[in-house]
Amino acid sequence: MRTFLPLVLALIGCGPLIDREADEAEPLQFFSSSEQGLVTCAERQDTGYRSGAAFAITVVSADGKPAERDTANAYAVMQQAAANDGVSIAVVSGFRTMAEQQHLYGCYINCSCNSCNLAAQPGYSNHQSGHALDLNTSAPGVLNWLSAHGAAFGFSRTVPSEAWHWEWWGGGPGGGPCGSTADHCTSAEAAGCGQYGCGCVDHQCNGIFCPGTGCSAQHAADCGAFGAGCADGACAGGTAPGSGCTAKETLDCGSVGCGCVDHQCNGGVACAGTGCTWRETHDCAAFGVNCVDHQCAGGFGTGNGCTAKETTDCTAQGCGCVDHACSGGNACSGSGSTARNATDCGGLGCHSVDATCSGGSCPGSGCTGKQTTDCAAQGCGCVDEVCRGGWCEGTGCTARQALDCGNVDAGCSMGRCVTQTGTVVATPDAGAPMPAPDDGGLPVLPGDSGPTEVDPNVLPPAPVEAAPTRLELVRGGCSAAPGVWLLGLLLWARRRRAPSGWRGRAGPSRR
Ligand SMILES: [Zn+2]
Repeated sequence: MRTFLPLVLALIGCGPLIDREADEAEPLQFFSSSEQGLVTCAERQDTGYRSGAAFAITVVSADGKPAERDTANAYAVMQQAAANDGVSIAVVSGFRTMAEQQHLYGCYINCSCNSCNLAAQPGYSNHQSGHALDLNTSAPGVLNWLSAHGAAFGFSRTVPSEAWHWEWWGGGPGGGPCGSTADHCTSAEAAGCGQYGCGCVDHQCNGIFCPGTGCSAQHAADCGAFGAGCADGACAGGTAPGSGCTAKETLDCGSVGCGCVDHQCNGGVACAGTGCTWRETHDCAAFGVNCVDHQCAGGFGTGNGCTAKETTDCTAQGCGCVDHACSGGNACSGSGSTARNATDCGGLGCHSVDATCSGGSCPGSGCTGKQTTDCAAQGCGCVDEVCRGGWCEGTGCTARQALDCGNVDAGCSMGRCVTQTGTVVATPDAGAPMPAPDDGGLPVLPGDSGPTEVDPNVLPPAPVEAAPTRLELVRGGCSAAPGVWLLGLLLWARRRRAPSGWRGRAGPSRR
């Protein structure tokens, strides 16, 4: 009776059963124990059939039986879950070739073999389409486990009379050993998306040159547990090396003059922020250097420690920019100099003012425009960043100015050489302030190879430092590494080749 049930169901309108086939009685289990639990990913190409039409199918081995690769991946994940519950599932029959199905069908038609069991017409069995697996449901606990949990892994029982016949048509948690990605895509899906320059997440194209982060929610959460972001299938940004942006995000932000940090446009010529991830900022700070646009700069390093936008914005206010803050010039407090400027000029016996050596032993007063203006409002001159002379203490002259005046037998007052009668006889050397010494090279951070792709399976160690106080959390590994330039070149070349529609929309984005 049971062998006719599918036929009856099909005749009364249970359409799907026609395609899902009925097949033979439960096959004998003749696998050896060493084959159990073993999905081997060595691939071979074969010819599959669905609804009579042939197609190329990729076959691997599950429990020693041929099985379509994606089905085998889903099965391996389910099999492991069952094993964790103490249930030992095994494949008894998987993918079948046309010859094998023809043999079984002949047995059924001629009642000459295989116990005359029902078999689907050749070309119409889902053992030929790769979706069906016959499982060892007579083994203890297997059928109960499958009935309770199979659906969660994408497997369903499709032939009511055959408890052993289970099919997978997609779904489940993803993964599996044979070329599937960490983000719930089969290797075939990932390869398909890859042809469009995209990653794959949850069975959809996502990341790299496509919109999206390129990471599943779980993957992002796993990275986030370590304070890292996730981009293009790898922990990146935040506490992890890398910018934390996909290739598309980086291109999109770059097209509007910005860098990209943690999936947001940041830094550069046009965007707010330092242009660095938390890790980049941390790594640079360990050397007393700030971070700007994924590079160490400012502080005790070279450069002013400001992005192009920060510098432009400060300049518009009549100020310089130092370590991401407006400083110096005619309008802002501060010396307008980095710690390195001050150290370098100090080595010459001078102050650093607006990133040039001034005052002390160097030409110039050693004061910014604002400092000079502020002192003048008190009736004083300004010397080495302090109000001096006039109504204030001192002569109002730097050490160099006093020396220069002495060379012409005059005294120095308020930056000018005067005789004892008060006649101005000379002006001390008023040459342009000296540029601060600069070796022109960014510090190379030991052991830091710059942003690199991280093995998503190897999460970075949890950060031991407290969270940064700055609002713009930006940092990355330091960047003058060749790999970064190579990546940039590749991205540039890729962009040149990409259709114009791929340039993406302009503007800061959060995806
Ligand atoms: Zn079957």
